[in-house]
Amino acid sequence: MQTSVFEASPKVAELLQRYEHFLKEHIFPIELEVIYGSFKAFLPKLNELRNLAKKEGLFAPHLSTSEGGLGLDLFEFAYISELLGRSPLGHYIFNCQAPDIGNMELMHQFASEELKNKYLKPLQEGKIRSCFAMTEPQHAGSNPVHLSTRAVKEGDHYIINGHKWFTSSADGASFTIVMAVTDPENENPYQKASMILVPLDNPGYQLLRNIPIMGDAGEDYISHGEVKFTDCKVPVTNLIGREGAGFALAQERLGPGRIHHCMRWIGICERAMEMMCRRAIERELDPGRPLASQQTIQNWIAESYAEIKASRLMVLDTAFKIQHHGAKAAKEDISTIKFYVSKVLMNVIDRAIQVHGALGITDDTMLSFWYRHERGARIYDGPDEVHKSVLARKIIKSYQV
Ligand SMILES: Cc1cc2nc3c(=O)[nH]c(=O)nc-3n(C[C@H](O)[C@H](O)[C@H](O)COP(=O)(O)OP(=O)(O)OC[C@H]3O[C@@H](n4cnc5c(N)ncnc54)[C@H](O)[C@@H]3O)c2cc1C
Repeated sequence: MQTSVFEASPKVAELLQRYEHFLKEHIFPIELEVIYGSFKAFLPKLNELRNLAKKEGLFAPHLSTSEGGLGLDLFEFAYISELLGRSPLGHYIFNCQAPDIGNMELMHQFASEELKNKYLKPLQEGKIRSCFAMTEPQHAGSNPVHLSTRAVKEGDHYIINGHKWFTSSADGASFTIVMAVTDPENENPYQKASMILVPLDNPGYQLLRNIPIMGDAGEDYISHGEVKFTDCKVPVTNLIGREGAGFALAQERLGPGRIHHCMRWIGICERAMEMMCRRAIERELDPGRPLASQQTIQNWIAESYAEIKASRLMVLDTAFKIQHHGAKAAKEDISTIKFYVSKVLMNVIDRAIQVHGALGITDDTMLSFWYRHERGARIYDGPDEVHKSVLARKIIKSYQV
C-alpha cells in the first residue's frame, strides 16, 4: 500500500536504489578531496565516473531515451535530483547539473538544427560544458531588463560588446548563451534582448576571473566567472529562438530549473540533517550524555525534520502541477518554493554547523562548502524578496473586489 501521497513510483524507486548505490560506492568517498582540492586535477577521475554512469544506464536522467537519457519527466526527475543533491558532485557526474541542464532544455526547444548538432549533442553526451551569461555587474540582476550588453547586426554577423558576471561554470566551458540587447529602441522592455550562442574560443571573449566566493574562487565547474565580450563576432545563425525573445526564453528556462534546484537543496538538507543527528549521538558532553540528550539540539532536529518534510511536499506538488498543467499555472507555487526552500536550506545547514561546533566551520566536512556556496540560493533565480512580492501581490489581488 502507498505510504505517502508522493511516494516514488516503482520505476523511480528502482532507479533511486541504483543511484544511491553509485553515490555510496563512487562519489561520497572522493567528494571532499574534489571540492576542497583541485577540481581540474580530478577531471580524469570524474570523466571515468561519467563513463561508468553511462555504462550503468544512469547518465542524463532528464533527457529522452533517443537523446541518450532515461526519459524521466519533470516530476520523476525531481526525486532523482533530491538524491543527487546529497553530494556537490551528484548532478555533475550524471550530466544533469546547472547551468547545463537549463541550456539543454532551452536549446532542445528553441535552437536551430545546426546549433543542436554542433553544440547541444556534445553537451548532452557530456563531452563539453556550457554557461549562461545574463547578469551584469553594473545593473540590478533582479530586474534584468536593464542590460548594457549589445549585439549589433553587421551583415551575417552579430558584434557583441558587454561585461557580465556570475556566469557560473564559465571556466572550462565550451560555449555560453549570452543575453544581449538587439533592439534598444523597442518600447516593450521585455522585447529588447535576445539569446545568442557564443563559442568560448572566440577571440572577442575573455574570462576575466573566477570570482572569489567568501574566500574561494574555485575552478572549472565549481566557479563563477566574470567575463567580457569585446567586438565578439558570431554568425546571426547563432541566435536562439527569435530576435527579441530573450526574456520569454529566460522564463521558459527558469520554471523547471527551480524544481531542479529546490529538490537539490532538499537533498543537501537531508544529508546535513543526517550529519547533525550522527554527530549529536556520537559527541558526548560527559560520558553517557551525548549532545542528542539536550533539548535545544532535539528542537533543531525536530524543526529541521518538519521544514524538510514541508519543503519536499511543496516542491513535489509544484512539480506535479507543472508536469500536468504547465509552468504558467504554477507561477505562484514556483515563487513559493523558491523562497521557502532556500530559507530552509540556510536553517538546516546552520543548525548542522552549530551541532558540529568548531568542526562545523572547518573544511573537514561538507558543511562549510555548503555554507559558503549555497548562501547564493537566496539570491540567484530571482532573490527571495522578488518571489515574495509576486506571491503576495497575487494573494492581495484575490481579496480585492
Ligand atoms: C551563486 C550564484 C550563481 C549565479 N549564476 C548566474 C549565472 O550562471 N548566470 C547569470 O547570468 N547570473 C547568475 N547569477 C546572478 C543572479 O542571477 C543575480 O545575482 C540575481 O538576479 C540578483 O541580481 P543582483 O545580484 O544584481 O542583485 P540586485 O538586483 O542588486 O538585488 C540586491 C538585493 O536587493 C533586494 N531586492 C531586489 N529586488 C527587490 C524587490 N523587487 N523587492 C525587494 N527587495 C529586492 C534583494 O534582497 C536582492 O538580493 C548568479 C548568482 C549567484 C549568487
